[in-house]
Amino acid sequence: MIASSSNALDVARDAYRNISLYSPNRTPAAIDLSDNTNLWGIPPVAAATIREVATAAVTRYPALYVTDVKRAIADYLDVTPDMVVTGCGSDDVLDSAIRAFGNPGDTVACPDPSFAMIPIFARMNGLNPVLVPLTPTFDVDVNAMVSARAKIAYLCSPNNPTGGALARESIEQVIDAAAGVVIIDEAYAEFASGNALDLLRRSSRVLITRTMSKAFGLAGLRIGYAVGDPALVVEVEKSRGPYKVNGLAERAAVAALTSDRTWVAEHVTEAIENRERLQQSLHALGLSPLPSQANFVLVPVTGAVEIDRVMRERGVAVRPFTTLPGIGDALRISVGPWPMVEECVRVLGDVLVEQGKAPTSTPVAAPGARV
Ligand code: PMP
Repeated sequence: MIASSSNALDVARDAYRNISLYSPNRTPAAIDLSDNTNLWGIPPVAAATIREVATAAVTRYPALYVTDVKRAIADYLDVTPDMVVTGCGSDDVLDSAIRAFGNPGDTVACPDPSFAMIPIFARMNGLNPVLVPLTPTFDVDVNAMVSARAKIAYLCSPNNPTGGALARESIEQVIDAAAGVVIIDEAYAEFASGNALDLLRRSSRVLITRTMSKAFGLAGLRIGYAVGDPALVVEVEKSRGPYKVNGLAERAAVAALTSDRTWVAEHVTEAIENRERLQQSLHALGLSPLPSQANFVLVPVTGAVEIDRVMRERGVAVRPFTTLPGIGDALRISVGPWPMVEECVRVLGDVLVEQGKAPTSTPVAAPGARV
């Protein structure tokens, strides 16, 4: 007999009782600005590689520890291949790193709000997440982060969902005072004006994670990676296990990293331009978006879930957040080609007016009345 789900609960590890499946609202929408992927499409040489993939890429196992991809990443970042570990998306790399460096019962310190999967990966691996609220300027609170004495300190820069980069000095201070490994998640580094790669020389306990899901347009193929000291990287590789980047993804990643960098750079430039235009348009609606160094913008609004629901009905998906510490409800809007963003702003403006949430919808004062 097949066990019922309540029996299944009895056999799961204790920490899993409080973990629910990742389930954002994925109701299809004609314009989907909800997941910060590359809305300009697949880089052209990677696309051709996928179309022409050889039989062996499917019938045989991929490379054990994806040597070609490591070489291509090392060349892209100007590091050595032994400083690179890959995985099935940077999700896999982050999960593996938490497992590699934390014993069950240890703590993972994580700014709040930040990438929502980190506390979940911590609990999945038997570790305890400690959430450290961001400062009023959306930077990491160095003292609180350090005094958590965590085995793993996680930083995300540019930070998801706030969008801004953490201050350089704050990152350095966390590295200098941290009790264990410092993971710096740079999923959005390509859209930012700086990155933390040079901090790898500051400490051998720094691991920087990156992804090919955002600027490189390969989210569906699931390729992420981390760079760090070879001794650190090899532990992540042990924890992750072999064969995690599939053969098709491997070939597309190498093609994109070696032959599509110009295409990627051009679309990053366009994304940054459109990000600034989006900021201006949101200001014009009377909203106050947070500064962003990523390919998305977070904008506080009241009743974000209801706004998102109506926007989806009208063909535009964004990502709603509720009760973010220090922010409240907010919408995270990915940046894509301008017509998509423009339509999003138009629909958002309409919905705000209809729901009585736009400053433009506040009652116009009668002539002579005091406002
Ligand atoms: N880190 C951050 C900050 C992210 O926003 C995401 C995806 N939303 C990831 C990591 C994971 O991305 P992927 O697994 O596609 O590499």
